[in-house]
Amino acid sequence: IKKRAVSCPAFPGHSIFRHGSTLVVAEHEGGVIKPPSLSALAAATCLPDPDSSVSVLLAGSGPSLQQAASHAASCHPSISKVLVADSDKFKNPLAEPWAKLVHLVQQSGGYSHIFAAANSFGKNVMPRAAALLDVSPITDVTGISDSNTFVRPIYAGNALCTVRYTGANPCILTIRSTSFPVHQKSVDSNEASISQVDLSTFDADLGKSTYISQTSQDEERPDLGNARIVVTGGRALKSAENFKLIEELAKKLGAAVGATRAAVDAGYVPNDLQVGQTGKIVAPELYMAFGVSGAIQHLAGMRDSKVIVAVNNDADAPIFQVADYGLVGDLFEVIPELLEKLPEK
Ligand code: FAD
Repeated sequence: IKKRAVSCPAFPGHSIFRHGSTLVVAEHEGGVIKPPSLSALAAATCLPDPDSSVSVLLAGSGPSLQQAASHAASCHPSISKVLVADSDKFKNPLAEPWAKLVHLVQQSGGYSHIFAAANSFGKNVMPRAAALLDVSPITDVTGISDSNTFVRPIYAGNALCTVRYTGANPCILTIRSTSFPVHQKSVDSNEASISQVDLSTFDADLGKSTYISQTSQDEERPDLGNARIVVTGGRALKSAENFKLIEELAKKLGAAVGATRAAVDAGYVPNDLQVGQTGKIVAPELYMAFGVSGAIQHLAGMRDSKVIVAVNNDADAPIFQVADYGLVGDLFEVIPELLEKLPEK
């Protein structure tokens, strides 16, 4: 078979050769593939295959699953197949059945690579799937050099590590969405086949886990992981009540709200708003940090933002070392002034 050299859009200049097939484990909501999964798809297309191409795995139940399958089938020319696991067993977003599903699909598909986004979903499911498949996953990938060589940050983003995968198939990867932007040209029309996963041998035992409930964020607010603007508050806000200043400013700017771990631990906001090494990784066009010291673990989650604005009353705060614009001042004076001067959105 003649191998084909393909230039990866995320890494112009690299030519990649490969034999194998790729599975992308995707999330969907409201009948469409979620943006982090589209980024995982973009990453997967950096490893195109001369024979077969990329398959997408979706699970859930009801009409929105079928709509998401149609969306997946048409969202990238490299997608050849959409595999749909339609069952109540996937109604709730639990990692255990999902990991078993990936295991089941791998047994019949024999994929060389399995991709997912390095978000809460991927971080929850993929290590479990890797354990079931007895392989070691490569997490938080930010670059692809060839089919077995990947780049990932270490030491809270202070160094980049190049990893060569020498294990058995499949090579399981979670990717950082911020490193694999979805270009408009990757949503051209395409018609991949849609087929149902045979679940007759599927074991849905949840083990020690039990589903309790799910809460989702204010739908009017942009998703923190994909927002163009993020307004973040730190411990200096002092209370959940004061944190509303950050929320008000975010609303006026059409921005997502972020928080430091100190603000989360103090109970000002829920932990899904945490930005950083142990929170979300963001790279918006504009990141505004109010009362954030700039600890290394926080910087690990936002240092790739295009423009960083910091307001802190300590001129020596480390956040100023990464800020494009810094203002030494009291946030309790600066934010009300901004709210007054900014036009209504
Ligand atoms: P502080 O460090 O207390 O800083 C508050 C800042 O506000 C100060 O710089 C102060 O000068 C300024 N300030 C005070 N009052 C005002 C005012 N009125 N106006 C303006 N400025 C004011 N942290 C994260 O954020 N995300 C993570 O994912 C994360 N993961 C971690 C993982 C590990 C393993 C560890 C050990 C720590 C982690 N941390 C993380 C915690 C991190 O080390 C810091 O403790 C945390 O980021 C500090 O949050 P902060 O900047 O809000 O608070």
